[in-house]
Amino acid sequence: MKVVKFGGSSMADAGQYRKIRDILLADPERRVVVVSAAGKRNKADHKITDLLYLCYAHTQYGVDCSGVFEMIVSRYREIQRDLGLTLDLEPEFAALKQRLDAKAVTQDELASRGEYFSARLMAAYLGFQFVDAADWVKFKFDGTVDQESSYEALRGLVRGMGVVIPGFYGLMPDGRIRTFTRGGSDITGALAAAALDADVYENWTDVSGILMADPRIVENPKTIPEVTYDELRELSYSGAQVLHEGTIFPVREKNIPLNIRNTNAPEDPGTMIQEKFQLDSDPQRFITGITGKKDFTIIAVSKRGMSSQVGVLRKILTVLERHDISVDYVPNGIDNVSVVMPTESVASSLYAILGEIQKEVEPDRLDVHDQIAVVAAVGRKMAFRPGISGQIFAALGQAGINIRMINQGPDELNIIFGVDNRDFASAIRVLYNSFIKE
Ligand code: ASP
Repeated sequence: MKVVKFGGSSMADAGQYRKIRDILLADPERRVVVVSAAGKRNKADHKITDLLYLCYAHTQYGVDCSGVFEMIVSRYREIQRDLGLTLDLEPEFAALKQRLDAKAVTQDELASRGEYFSARLMAAYLGFQFVDAADWVKFKFDGTVDQESSYEALRGLVRGMGVVIPGFYGLMPDGRIRTFTRGGSDITGALAAAALDADVYENWTDVSGILMADPRIVENPKTIPEVTYDELRELSYSGAQVLHEGTIFPVREKNIPLNIRNTNAPEDPGTMIQEKFQLDSDPQRFITGITGKKDFTIIAVSKRGMSSQVGVLRKILTVLERHDISVDYVPNGIDNVSVVMPTESVASSLYAILGEIQKEVEPDRLDVHDQIAVVAAVGRKMAFRPGISGQIFAALGQAGINIRMINQGPDELNIIFGVDNRDFASAIRVLYNSFIKE
């Protein structure tokens, strides 16, 4: 059995609902459907969830939100009419509006209604059982999900045939609705897959998987066919926007493969995410993906004899800890060490930090470099394979790109290096053209 989750753009109008039905008909294993609220139909359109938050904000300031509310319900009316459904949501729309006017609805409850109405319509359209997320996604008071009792509750609700579940929300122990953070329908899908021991969790969106590089930098980048969870973590840490953070752990815990697919191109295989791959579908390519971020600051500390002194690094890190700054990389030489972190995180306390390092470490030199970009080449196949970093740095050298810092973890899952911000895009292009593009 497969759990299939459809994101906002896949739920935007009746045409998308039809595509979803075809996707389900193409594979009878696709029996548990998790849906988002209706998303944008075009660039200028609005996401229903955004409108719901906007509507709530109106009521908070005592402004009438009837206009926005009408935009929301008319979208669902349109889908219902275009699909020719007899399901009548009017009484529910009216009841919600009444409670909204009476200020009897919380922000989370209102925000959750986008998914709720989507799921009601989709269940009616497919002739599937509607299973409300409020009946099984159970939050604890600390805001985390009580996985075991949620899983058990869902297993008790599913009657074997196809089901449709709204994403994004669940119930607090006091009976109130609570939402996940934005984009959280992914988590509901992962929880459903874990609860029902799905063979695969398919996450359907509007792209054909995770790209090997940012399409704003590389023209038409290839899709990553297979990626491990560890690689995915590296890719998203270093900049690639992939999945909602909490999505991964429920399926990873149960070793359920996660497949990212495109509702608008269902024949594309998408990206398969798994703990390990037994067979290598592409043995030649050793880089899985290239990513990175701009705007890092390097604080470089030099002190004669540092290598034989005890506690210098601790003193530097203690200063940063005092300012609540998390350090991303610590490249070092014999008598020098640098700390690298996002410029934004140190901007307001930089001089205080430098003053404290000066006083506590008494360095010979203390330098700050900013406008630094970090680029990460990620790939499980780079590990324990000699010559890879040599090839990467040779390609960058030939392109005249100066490398300001190098970092590789002992797991050899990535090679990370720093360049000037202005070399960021060309460094990514050089790597892509040398090692990914055929
Ligand atoms: N509708 C919610 C949002 O826009 C959740 C989701 O689509 O995953 O954030």
